[in-house]
Amino acid sequence: MPELPEVETTVRGLARYLHGERIARVSVNRADLRRAFPLELAQVLTGATVTALGRRAKYGLIHTDRDVTMVFHLGMSGRWRIEPERIDKHDHLVLETGSGHVLALNDARRFGSVDLVDTGALESWGPFRALGPEPLGEALTARHLARAFAGRAAPIKTLLLDQRIVAGLGNIYVCEALHRARIRPDKAAGRVSRAALERLVPAIRQVLAESIEAGGSTIRDYAQPSGELGYFASAWRVYGREGEACSCGGRVARFVQGGRSTFWCPKCQK
Ligand SMILES: [Zn+2]
Repeated sequence: MPELPEVETTVRGLARYLHGERIARVSVNRADLRRAFPLELAQVLTGATVTALGRRAKYGLIHTDRDVTMVFHLGMSGRWRIEPERIDKHDHLVLETGSGHVLALNDARRFGSVDLVDTGALESWGPFRALGPEPLGEALTARHLARAFAGRAAPIKTLLLDQRIVAGLGNIYVCEALHRARIRPDKAAGRVSRAALERLVPAIRQVLAESIEAGGSTIRDYAQPSGELGYFASAWRVYGREGEACSCGGRVARFVQGGRSTFWCPKCQK
């Protein structure tokens, strides 16, 4: 499932082909993904110039000179194919730029979405309204986390996955960040020390940044039909490594928390 780093990598990859480009042709090849494509999608985007690309949580943003932003979500299996050799049946939306680049939004399971939102009203758009700060932005601080966690008995890992507290963090990244910050995933959030939170914020940024960098180096793979991007599994220190040695000499353990696997090291995470 595409996580924040995959979305960021996707947006950077798309920017190479779309930034400053006029969208010459738009083909909408079916009526819906998770929900219907906006009826006016092709009409609004055709002839528009892409002024910037961005990301909010796990949503990609394609801003245009029509004060409208195309917001996409990759769902479970979505990805953009760049210059595909031929359009396949899962290429549900195809953009062709004035200089002839072809970009296809491919989504076999169709859990993704595409919306048109007034650029000026993005922050108040339904799915964005309640989102917490971006993990890579300046608004995520130990102070913000301390306030959000104050008095909370829920495990810190569960609250880090709450999009209202931090936007866009997924299971893998939370496991890895807690390990780097040496915090037990099941510790009551309200009891995590300020010093630990001061370690956690840079740990979150580091884990995400490393993943984005790993994905960024494989941008060309977007053209490959099988391309799984951004996951850099060999770099995980605990995720998927149950029973393996931790660098502290301990052993990576796993338990199920909120229906999801948590990987951690009982020796160095307190
Ligand atoms: Zn350890």
